[in-house]
Amino acid sequence: MLDFQAILKGIHQDAIHASDKGVVASYIPELAHIDKNNFGIHLRTSRGETYGAGEFNKPFSIQSISKVLSLAKAMSLIGEDVWKRVDVEPSGHPFNQLALLEVENGIPRNPLINSGALVIADVLVSHLENPKADFLKFVREITNDSNIKYNEAVAISEKNTGFKNYAAANLLKSFKNLQNPVEEVLDFYFHQCALEMTCTQLTKTFFFLANKGTCLLNKVHLKESQVKRINAIMLTCGFYDEAGEFAFEVGLPGKSGVGGGIVALLPDNFVITTWSPGLNKKGNSKLGMLALEAFTTRTKRSIF
Ligand code: GLN
Repeated sequence: MLDFQAILKGIHQDAIHASDKGVVASYIPELAHIDKNNFGIHLRTSRGETYGAGEFNKPFSIQSISKVLSLAKAMSLIGEDVWKRVDVEPSGHPFNQLALLEVENGIPRNPLINSGALVIADVLVSHLENPKADFLKFVREITNDSNIKYNEAVAISEKNTGFKNYAAANLLKSFKNLQNPVEEVLDFYFHQCALEMTCTQLTKTFFFLANKGTCLLNKVHLKESQVKRINAIMLTCGFYDEAGEFAFEVGLPGKSGVGGGIVALLPDNFVITTWSPGLNKKGNSKLGMLALEAFTTRTKRSIF
């Protein structure tokens, strides 16, 4: 029997003693003041056992991790039609890269880079009656937690400095791959990124993707075939130009955010979340990557 609690404790000890903890994202000013000495890790097995170490109950900004949730909601609303507007290929580029869009007629490479997530946000703005409120309701429902909320200060902070996202949205609009006004889509997108959660909550949120589309409340949100697609996209595109490295080192589908969170999962087995705000040069949590590599190596549990 593996002693998961001891393994997480060991990983936490290694993390707090690491000499290089990466650099906290400062291009969103509201995130710049977060202390990079925070480190949390939380595991939930499919049987419902939970383990945690460090700051696993402290809320942080989930940022790009939300792109998986918006994709899941869009697929539940319009199914395979999503793929008419966004591709499924890894980009090999940073999350805010615009160049590829020009050559590919406004079809983003995948839904987990910013341009792709903006197209998915547009789908939700078109199909939800009250987009921000309805999306929050969906996230609260799959997590079975009504305390989850948007951090308005983070959303405003990103709105004030989100020049590249404005550029991407305008480019998509020029290619007619955005149906709603740029401002409306960006307002939704900045809010989804500003969702705040703890490691414990995020682990619960992603449970449905490790459980064939059925959430903790036993409600079916996606078909098995749709969950397969989302997990495949996380594996190939979840870490931008470091997706290969994450598959190589960790070997799990997962998603990172510039708030320093990473969530990863082994279907039918477990969901694991790490939070460490210092990022590496590719914009992924430095210690989170190391922690998950240590976890899959020590437990010998990965999709490979
Ligand atoms: N909200 C951030 C942005 O659009 C998300 C980026 C990320 O987490 N990688 O720049």
